[in-house]
Amino acid sequence: MSFFDSFLDEVLQKEEGDDDGCPTSTPGSPTCTLEHLAEWLAGSTHSSSFSGVAAPETAVLGLHWAVQNRIPDRTIAPPRMLSMVEWNAECQAELDVLATGIKQDWCCCFSDISSFFRCELKEVIEQLKKKPSMALEVLSPIITSRQAVNRRAPCVRHGQNCFIETAQKHFCGTSCTAHSRQGKQLGLSDPNVLHLLAWAALRLEVQEQEITLENVEGFPTSVLERLLGSCYIIEDVVMDPRMYGFPVARARKYHRLRHKMAALAEVSPLSHFCKRFHRAVNWSWRELLFQHNFNHGVIQSEFEEELHWGSSRKLSMAHALQDAATEEEWDRRVEPLAQHYGWDRLSAAKDVVVSMGGPERQPFLAALNVTEIEMRRSYAISHPGQAWQLNQNPESGHGMASTDKWLHTFIHNVGLMLALTSVTSLTH
Ligand SMILES: [Zn+2]
Repeated sequence: MSFFDSFLDEVLQKEEGDDDGCPTSTPGSPTCTLEHLAEWLAGSTHSSSFSGVAAPETAVLGLHWAVQNRIPDRTIAPPRMLSMVEWNAECQAELDVLATGIKQDWCCCFSDISSFFRCELKEVIEQLKKKPSMALEVLSPIITSRQAVNRRAPCVRHGQNCFIETAQKHFCGTSCTAHSRQGKQLGLSDPNVLHLLAWAALRLEVQEQEITLENVEGFPTSVLERLLGSCYIIEDVVMDPRMYGFPVARARKYHRLRHKMAALAEVSPLSHFCKRFHRAVNWSWRELLFQHNFNHGVIQSEFEEELHWGSSRKLSMAHALQDAATEEEWDRRVEPLAQHYGWDRLSAAKDVVVSMGGPERQPFLAALNVTEIEMRRSYAISHPGQAWQLNQNPESGHGMASTDKWLHTFIHNVGLMLALTSVTSLTH
């Protein structure tokens, strides 16, 4: 959470007349104050596409939390989330938890962005799915003449066709596999291009004041200029979370699109603005587990949630050792583990946990299962003082360890991360 505070410190430090501190769509005064930010946040509206688990929404709520903390004597209304687009059912469930938790029942969740394509294009779209390399050329003129999409589509939160409202700010992280070095490198010939085109067509219909699009460095900005350049001023900058104090290396190209008519024309260049927030990497898990700070009780404490999740697993040492006051209780709890792991391995793992003070002293260590405890011991020898991914075996060559400052990139399944040097700080 310290990023939000350092962000506030930086924007509030600015001298009058220096106009690059406030959010770029803020009309009026060039001077940025807490009151100004509070006013902007309370009136702001947001939407996202390819929403995942709501990273942009979480960031806006984090900023709201930080501003509210500095003005405790008044209540700042939360920013309004108008819609999300996400087709992964598990992510949809997470988005619903967030929208319900912040009491924004109006927020729509559209499932598939290509469901916004007009009915009359159905056959064309089916053909293009088979030949995605032609999609850009075939659909470009239809998109730029604004005949490609409707503004209604099935909404999973409301169980009906909903109208997609215009938010002030739109965020999206379009699929990157087509443009990343690790992907198939099909670029705009990848089948995913249809989703990108549906997204661009929808922007021309909805016309938010400001759009942020994130993708890998190889993403072709020219396609945005071709499809949206008539409406938007487009800038791009490569940013990496580690430039901003986060322990995560993930360089990405961010595009800022400002509406030529609806947004302020004069703001500082994006690259100049971003540099103001550079800071050294200095992290604890608090940089990553912070949602309980502003989620209005939906998550009581992310630390506790993580610990509870790990300890509740049937094969964790905590589960075996928990409440095993008598020998009979211990035998009853440990029997299934002994059968699963074999007694020797189990006994060795138990010795590790008990020798470190038992589950009470080392609750995060005790939350591990026998295999994870073994992995932890291997990592401690081969990669001391780092953060380890315990579902990868370091001895098999697939182990993942990060430096003491940077974690490896978080991807679809982050797995179970542990840093021995931070274990004690986790409980504070
Ligand atoms: Zn809806």
